[in-house]
Amino acid sequence: MRSPLWSPGARSPDAVREDGPSAFPQARRAAASNLLAMWRERFAFLGLGSNVEDRLDHLQDAVDALNADRRIRVDAVSSVYETEPVGGPQQGPFLNLAVRVATRHAPRQLLRACQAVEAKLGRVRTVRWGPRTIDVDILLYDDRTVRRRRLQIPHPRLTERAFALIPLIEVAPGQILPDGRSLPAALAKIAPIEGVTMVGTQVHMPSQAPS
Ligand code: AMP
Repeated sequence: MRSPLWSPGARSPDAVREDGPSAFPQARRAAASNLLAMWRERFAFLGLGSNVEDRLDHLQDAVDALNADRRIRVDAVSSVYETEPVGGPQQGPFLNLAVRVATRHAPRQLLRACQAVEAKLGRVRTVRWGPRTIDVDILLYDDRTVRRRRLQIPHPRLTERAFALIPLIEVAPGQILPDGRSLPAALAKIAPIEGVTMVGTQVHMPSQAPS
């Protein structure tokens, strides 16, 4: 089990006592920096999708790569859904899931981290909404609204896409959108829901991957 984000450098009270009085300033600095890190930690929700090659492998690799970022801890992983492509050219079906992450990245840094994972897994941006090894979108970040040219949160198409909302509801059941709506209420607006099927296979939490 991976330790929480704020633990590196943490010292237990016992460790402080054993080290003697000279260790106190260092211990206090570590405690202060741990508190600061805890204070900065936020929950965010990411949507992942893949529709080329081994789609499940790509999803697992992306979840692992996100968790390998020292400012991101993957906290929950939804079921995997097979979904019909929406928009873009003719292409094969996607596998989609959502993850909840605890992160010390601010929203724009988190977008860069998501794009770094896409690049690592070999995604090349060609056709808009075209086939992709992996797509990592920020669906929600805490209860924040971000309206910038390169980053909108909630994700601008979240409430139009059942393939994003359905897995998101699994990992963010009580989450309220900044406009006050619940996620199920947003989903109800796009009913009837077609082209989203839960599949039997799962993507594992990084710490629970089978050996
Ligand atoms: P896509 O090709 O669908 O992955 O879209 C990527 C583009 O959407 C990037 O240029 C991002 O800057 C932009 N974008 C805007 N808001 C978001 C968001 N919430 N999550 C991911 N990408 C976003």
